[in-house]
Amino acid sequence: MPDHEFPDDLGDGPNDGLDVRRVQPYEATKAYRCPGCNQEIPAGLGHMVVVPRRTPDDRRHWHTACWERAERTGVRPQ
Ligand SMILES: [Zn+2]
Repeated sequence: MPDHEFPDDLGDGPNDGLDVRRVQPYEATKAYRCPGCNQEIPAGLGHMVVVPRRTPDDRRHWHTACWERAERTGVRPQ
């Protein structure tokens, strides 16, 4: 299943033109690299996926803690 079809269960609406979704552990079937820490997010680990509304192909997968830190600090590496 393409990961942009995950239901949006955060319900917090627009976020700087980003769709931020929580990926449940059972949905994480592939490993990704987190742009927040440049470390791997292993398959089976719940994390966040951040999808720009205008360029959805540029979605990024983040560790939940890394995304929360980026949200707090306003630093969002591409
Ligand atoms: Zn990370």
